[in-house]
Amino acid sequence: RFISLEGGEGAGKSTQARLLSDALEARGIRVLQTREPGGTSGAEAIRALLLDPAMHWNAEAEALLFAAARADHVSQAIRPALQDGQWVVCDRFIDSSRAYQGGAGGLSDDDVVTLHRIGSGGMLPDLTILIEIAPDEARERLAIRDAGQSDRIGGREAQYHADVAAAFRRLAEADPARFVRIEGHGTPEEIHARIMQAVEPLLGK
Ligand code: C5P
Repeated sequence: RFISLEGGEGAGKSTQARLLSDALEARGIRVLQTREPGGTSGAEAIRALLLDPAMHWNAEAEALLFAAARADHVSQAIRPALQDGQWVVCDRFIDSSRAYQGGAGGLSDDDVVTLHRIGSGGMLPDLTILIEIAPDEARERLAIRDAGQSDRIGGREAQYHADVAAAFRRLAEADPARFVRIEGHGTPEEIHARIMQAVEPLLGK
């Protein structure tokens, strides 16, 4: 089983990815917990390039780099783990590319999806958990996490974040069989409980 977690910065994805992986492991499931961009040495190297503030990638270059990182990650980590019977819990996947480089970056959704088809055979998660949080709350959480440093993301304008959030919402509405939308306001434990409810149907099978 392949589960991705999606949402904007500060939504709590990485905390929830850890809590979900721990909960699955507690039920005796072997889990590969991973993240995007990254998850393999090649993809982590691309991540470092993508997040380097000295670089000024445009949305097209970003989309190609993310697709390349994902291709490496899928072929060298995600597919082998699934074939081995493990569950995969991934912090971000294709929907981040569609929301960031597509919805907010201005690339067409078709192009982003085509890059994913070329790079990763169009692979999709069985379940995508979209954690939604109000922009003000995300900003507050990020200010704490980044101790006031304005990073590449913190520096981006509110409109960009609103575009990302709207794009995620549209993707979720268009594919309700794969997506579950989770209210991200609350304690990590509360949000984790909501996520476990969404994952429950997969556990029965
Ligand atoms: O929040 P996270 O740790 O996942 O950070 C990765 C960064 O890369 C995010 O801040 C996000 O804005 C960016 N990103 C992106 N396009 C993607 C995936 C991530 O711009 N497809």
